[in-house]
Amino acid sequence: MEQRFVDWLRRHVPPVPPPAIGIGDDAAVLPWRAGGDIVLTTDTITDKVDFVLAETEPRLIGHKALGVNLSDLAAMAATPVAALASVVLPRAVSGGGDPCALAMEIYSGMLALAEQFQVALVGGDTNSWEGSLVISVTAIGRVTSRGPLTRSGALPGDRVLVTGRLGGSLLGRHLAVEPRVREAVLLAERYELHAGLDISDGLALDASRLAGASGCGIALELAAIPISAAAEQLARQTGKSPLEHALGDGEDFELLFTAPPDAAEQIVRDQPLSISVTDVGQCIGTPGLWQVGDSGALNPLAPTGYQH
Ligand SMILES: [Mg+2]
Repeated sequence: MEQRFVDWLRRHVPPVPPPAIGIGDDAAVLPWRAGGDIVLTTDTITDKVDFVLAETEPRLIGHKALGVNLSDLAAMAATPVAALASVVLPRAVSGGGDPCALAMEIYSGMLALAEQFQVALVGGDTNSWEGSLVISVTAIGRVTSRGPLTRSGALPGDRVLVTGRLGGSLLGRHLAVEPRVREAVLLAERYELHAGLDISDGLALDASRLAGASGCGIALELAAIPISAAAEQLARQTGKSPLEHALGDGEDFELLFTAPPDAAEQIVRDQPLSISVTDVGQCIGTPGLWQVGDSGALNPLAPTGYQH
């Protein structure tokens, strides 16, 4: 299995331009220009936690495994450069499938996304065991000349913005991750941003984390939150409101960021992305997560979302 798979990988992974060394040697080598900081991230996804293998196309699982890592690079406003992937396959694939074929399909999903974002897949490791499918990806990126966008730079008075529309990811988007890499880099290069992250566990929970990391509070204007069609659709099945889905579902993989009021106003006016950017609230001096009522009064807002 191992040799057959490695041969397949060598044929399917695009070669890296020298002096870089990709798959085939004991370790990968990347040229790195001086002065540009390296951004590193890793994420593991597991059968029955992050996806259900028996119900999912393996290519989509591979896409998600790399996609969540690229989303974390986007959150730092970093450009992805390379990635390493480790796959631990179930020895007995349900339905009597071939573990090697499963590995190839998973990597095909990763490779398609890697090509889209010009990420070099420079290392791959596979093993099998008695447990369920586990995929761990490590991604490497570089910051823009503005440096990394962190969670901790928000200041009271900043506006809070989100890309795209939120909620209902369970209907498909949680697998078909669209990492907002180009969007994050464009925003960070063109505008003054103070803090940011990718919404992985829900707008409310992630906003409260950004606020906590920055030592401020965030007051969301609930009526302004852009709700996805999927959230509306899911709400018809769950009895929750579309807004509750937008606040708490998670795995939207959209960007949540803060900017000083002038920059935020400019971004909303320019709409520089192919997806919408919406002003959803404000950073305030009082810690915690709040909602702005009709009269402008602040009420506490529960940081609902996916707790690991
Ligand atoms: Mg993240």
